[in-house]
Amino acid sequence: MNEIKKQLLNVADSCVKCGICAPHCPTYTHTQNENESPRGRIALIQAWAGGHLGITDNLLNHIDNCLLCRACEKACPAVVPYGKLIDDFRAEIHEEQSTPITVKIVKSIAESKRVQRSVQLILNVYQQNKLQKTARLLRLPKLFGLNELDRLVPNYQEKETLKNYYAAKNEAKGDVGLFVGCMGELFDFATVSAAIKVLTQIGFNVHLPNNQTCCGALALHDGDKNGSLKLEQQNKIAFENKDLQAIVTIASGCGTTLREYSAKNFSVKVMDISHFLIHTDFDFSNTLKPLDENVRLHSPCSLKNGLRTDKSVSKLLQKIPELKISPLPETIQCCGAAGSYSLRHDKMAKTLLNELLTTALETPSDYLVSSNIGCALHIAAGLRERGEKIEVIHPIVLLARSFI
Ligand code: SF4
Ligand code: SF4
Repeated sequence: MNEIKKQLLNVADSCVKCGICAPHCPTYTHTQNENESPRGRIALIQAWAGGHLGITDNLLNHIDNCLLCRACEKACPAVVPYGKLIDDFRAEIHEEQSTPITVKIVKSIAESKRVQRSVQLILNVYQQNKLQKTARLLRLPKLFGLNELDRLVPNYQEKETLKNYYAAKNEAKGDVGLFVGCMGELFDFATVSAAIKVLTQIGFNVHLPNNQTCCGALALHDGDKNGSLKLEQQNKIAFENKDLQAIVTIASGCGTTLREYSAKNFSVKVMDISHFLIHTDFDFSNTLKPLDENVRLHSPCSLKNGLRTDKSVSKLLQKIPELKISPLPETIQCCGAAGSYSLRHDKMAKTLLNELLTTALETPSDYLVSSNIGCALHIAAGLRERGEKIEVIHPIVLLARSFI
């Protein structure tokens, strides 16, 4: 037995098969199939690593169907590091699996600034000249197998070129790094500029090193461990030597991955922006104007099961006078976005999304707030498809709008 199999077996053996995780698992909830439960997947990996099961399509599919939402990991009394187990298994069998073209496209955009610039130019033409509308009317994305990718593309947004340093507007309290992520600049510029506005106004110098890159989550969860380690190394270099109090993230999916980098001097500094803001000594009471609006609050899995700082978002939003916050119930599971999952498993992704939207829409609201760009794009696409006009935004955008 090779060393990796031994390690996988050791981790899998820590599962006591109690099944407490099962009701928390979206794929088990929807299939009632033990092989689609955390316990079942662990048993499959255990059997494979122990030499009792070969690599079969069934085995690969059951592991591939996992969203890596890590709800099971949070519920597990034996603290089985489920996410790591799946990532390590996927890395070990990487050669046995093919990556769909849509996921390859997203990965190549995520990992290269040059490709991002080209995509930006193409998107500008595609969206500003109504080509997107026409292409969708003619069902061209579906014809080319790009439907799932096209539905996620948000409407056109104005953007500026980002500088790599923004000085504090008031007396400086310190320096922070801002991790923009691979998709932030391209698809969520409003969140990037709101984060810069809020951080500088409350007294932080903000560094955005332009050699920062994708966090590596897409590669890691796809089993491409070497690819993810390369990105980890590049981010470490980008943020080193800057005497930063924190490396602030505006997408909880990226935050979770950065927080789990092996370089501890980097990972301990990583904080979701809402969590960072409520732990500063800044007094927001004279800075925020009332917003008499209703917010439906979505907690991404990466925020509640990965970073586990979801409560900080409502604490932060409660600082906005007159804002009415209504969190989605705990019974709502993963939205189905899950990195590149919705591109591979559109049926399950849409089932989960529909459940979330049906519940969310029971309470009329002006905004649906989410701290992760992947979830926000997936949820916004679902709302557009239902003809709903609710704006899906990051909490920091709402906070920036409330700034006097
Ligand atoms: S809760 Fe933990 S120990 Fe129990 S079956 Fe699930 S993974 Fe195994
Ligand atoms: S990570 Fe999520 S989908 Fe995967 S087994 Fe755990 S609860 Fe189920």
